[in-house]
Amino acid sequence: MPFFEVNKLEKRYKDFTLSVSFTMEEGDFLTIMGPSGSGKSTLLSLIAGIEAPDSGTIMLGGRDITKERIQDRGIAMVFQDFSLFPSMNAERNIRFGMKEKDGKKQKELAEKLLELVGLSGYGKRSVSSLSGGEAQRVALARAIAAEPRMILFDEPLSALDPPMRKHLRSVIRSIHDSLGLTVIYVTHDTEEAFAISDSILVMNGGRSAAMKSAEELYRRPCDLFTAFFTGEGTAIPAHLIYENMEGSLFFRPEDATISEEALDPDAYPMHIILNDAEVVSADFAGAHYMLGLEYQGYPLLVETSVKPRKARVSVMILRQSVLNLE
Ligand code: ADP
Repeated sequence: MPFFEVNKLEKRYKDFTLSVSFTMEEGDFLTIMGPSGSGKSTLLSLIAGIEAPDSGTIMLGGRDITKERIQDRGIAMVFQDFSLFPSMNAERNIRFGMKEKDGKKQKELAEKLLELVGLSGYGKRSVSSLSGGEAQRVALARAIAAEPRMILFDEPLSALDPPMRKHLRSVIRSIHDSLGLTVIYVTHDTEEAFAISDSILVMNGGRSAAMKSAEELYRRPCDLFTAFFTGEGTAIPAHLIYENMEGSLFFRPEDATISEEALDPDAYPMHIILNDAEVVSADFAGAHYMLGLEYQGYPLLVETSVKPRKARVSVMILRQSVLNLE
């Protein structure tokens, strides 16, 4: 039996139905990603016990928690707005949900947790005097202090500036690794999800579109929605290349390159050759140029190291990296 199981969980609102199943093992780091309105918060609220499902079950550590009260589930939450108690200092916030009842031991444990999140000596600080990054570390320490069986993170880094986001995501991941925590993490930031997760559940319209590792999602998306949600790319009708093929051919910008000469397709059996594509744009992106091209009325995105000099180029796409998707 898996450590955590969401089985045919359904929540119906007037214009929206969430319907999801998935499993996790103990110590997994799962990220839930999806566009706004795809059901991420609803799913998190059902798991935490803030909302009740219309049907389906949630099992955690061999126990059916579907109807359990929030405080009995053994699940801690970390929110975007930190949700600390403003009238308590950092240490008091961390001690709040501790199972340990002895005050001295609580203090020692709080200090250890502050050290773990990189805030040694911050115990007496009023939480209102903390920066966003520091407040989120206290919220993380408080969540761990409750010794939960699982921690849910709801867009925890969204309110922070980019360098702090990057730093704190590696703090969260390394604490996860050292303590063996089981984590469900919600974000709409693809780069963050790729960097932090073991696996990613992509939500689309209340359903799970895919659940895979970051690499698999990026390299082997199972549909066009997931392909475009997880990165840039091009989709052209498959019949443009293969007469009887339906659906679209999808490739990533880095799997194609250009030539300023017309190419003989027979000379490049490993590639799909699109001769005579028009260069529409060439955006400098630091390490490369992102070319916007047009081929027979369809837009293409290709990453190159140099800016083309000609207005019309040939495109070579590595055949093995092209996917046939719907
Ligand atoms: P996300 O977190 O991915 O942005 P949500 O889970 O917040 O998505 O919302 C999914 C859909 O469910 C939205 O269409 C939203 O309007 C709807 N929804 C969420 N909560 C309620 C509610 N309490 N009553 C009615 N509709 C709701």
